[in-house]
Amino acid sequence: MQDKANQGTIDLNRRRFLGGAGALAAGTAGVLAGGGALAAARESTGACKVPGCDYDVIVIGGGNAGAAASRDCMENGYRTLLLEARNRLGGRTFTADFEGTHVELGGFWIHHTQPFVWAEKERYNLEIVETPGAVPDRMALTIDGKRLELSLAQIHEAIAGWQSFTDAGREIMPRNWDILYNRDAALQADSVSVRDKLAQADLTPFQKQFISAIVATMAHNSPDAMSYIEMLRWHQCGGGYFPTFMDAVGRFSLKDGTIKLVEKMVQDGGAEVRLNTPVKSVHERGDRVAVTTAQGETLVAAAVIACLPMNTIFNIDFDPPLPAGVVEAGRQRHTGVGFKLYMKVQGDVGNLLSVATSAPLDFVMTYKQAGDHTILVGFGQDPAALDTADNRAVENALRQLVPGARLLAATSYDWNNDPYARGTYCSYRPGWLAKYYADFQKDQGRIFFGSSDHGEGWRGFIDGAIGGGIKAAQRVKDKLA
Ligand SMILES: Cc1cc2nc3c(=O)[nH]c(=O)nc-3n(C[C@H](O)[C@H](O)[C@H](O)COP(=O)(O)OP(=O)(O)OC[C@H]3O[C@@H](n4cnc5c(N)ncnc54)[C@H](O)[C@@H]3O)c2cc1C
Repeated sequence: MQDKANQGTIDLNRRRFLGGAGALAAGTAGVLAGGGALAAARESTGACKVPGCDYDVIVIGGGNAGAAASRDCMENGYRTLLLEARNRLGGRTFTADFEGTHVELGGFWIHHTQPFVWAEKERYNLEIVETPGAVPDRMALTIDGKRLELSLAQIHEAIAGWQSFTDAGREIMPRNWDILYNRDAALQADSVSVRDKLAQADLTPFQKQFISAIVATMAHNSPDAMSYIEMLRWHQCGGGYFPTFMDAVGRFSLKDGTIKLVEKMVQDGGAEVRLNTPVKSVHERGDRVAVTTAQGETLVAAAVIACLPMNTIFNIDFDPPLPAGVVEAGRQRHTGVGFKLYMKVQGDVGNLLSVATSAPLDFVMTYKQAGDHTILVGFGQDPAALDTADNRAVENALRQLVPGARLLAATSYDWNNDPYARGTYCSYRPGWLAKYYADFQKDQGRIFFGSSDHGEGWRGFIDGAIGGGIKAAQRVKDKLA
């Protein structure tokens, strides 16, 4: 249960505490804002609509997708159970405290171009705050260890390069929510990595380096790993213009934390919630579905919604089995294998955005200026390139982007070794649309799928998760009607 979460604030400077196998323990201690509101497993009252079931609907996974799905199923009048493996809700969003500052170790920024999450923010009247570094006073690009403070003319050159490289997006994917609408062009863009596309592009070396640095943060991986169409999808969803795209992915966030939205959705729906309950199997039997937990309990429902990460879903025994493409893609893992970390540095280093190529940190920006110190948020594409628990290594890496920075503390969460995530945010690898897309979100009888990773539009984002959950709940309603 989450009671322990409220016994005190986790000391996030003890970063090892958050790593790997400690994921569950970290979840226990790290949940902040209002964690106690969902402290007890809630019993949903009322009889099932469908006779002979323990629940009308069982939702598996208590991230944003599962929270939204469970709420809508309850609103549709179905007795609903939400099963979550960890001892906290939120999944790959994780509100925590770092040195007295509210931080998000996972999903964070949201935007009004993101229809599902923005509708929830409006519905629950949640306040927004801004990350200053999204509108920086200074920008820098470090190429192979050489740092260049960008002049206005260079910023214009960088943005012009980005626009030229993404110009085709509007034609290749005129409908963001229907990525294969212009099928041949989309599959062509799917077949090539951003790096290969960049190699062919008529751009200056400086423009190419700038794009590579930004794409490394988008892919949370090397630009080799992300297909060109995925880059176009991010860009087009964000308005098709570099500044609005950057606003969409890095400027606005929920003042009281992402956990607040998850709690609002779950509380509003009132589904029964069971934490610490990993699901082991999901078997359809005629017009019922049997869900068996790691504790050995079997529960019967008229429908199940699986709101699970791509990289872990295949660990559950599904019958009928998952489509081959879902399993294959999950085993390969989506592109998100990097790290995100917060760094507290001495003094006021200003409001900056600094990006790099061929460096352990690809992206650093100002998160909070507090006079005697600054909190920076950073991203790196390769966890093997930087031990985020080693302050000296972090400081050295940071100095390539912010010269002279004196690190006081740093924190990060190891999503890659968390058995219920096995990765960070999802983009697809070259060729995945052609190979796997038709298998993603293919419901199987009474087993429905809704997650951020298998969806469309803002796939790989909080918005995609909420949309995936809401749409799955609607399909369940249609099925059970
Ligand atoms: C470092 C990082 C930065 C990010 N930044 C942003 C951002 O700025 N903006 C943005 O919009 N998005 C961002 N994202 C992505 C966003 O957080 C995710 O896409 C979204 O939260 C995924 O939601 P979901 O519900 O689909 O999956 P998840 O949040 O992964 O939820 C799935 C749930 O299923 C549970 N589960 C897994 N296996 C089982 C099982 N066997 N039984 C029961 N439960 C199980 C998990 O514990 C988890 O709670 C970021 C993610 C990370 C990690």
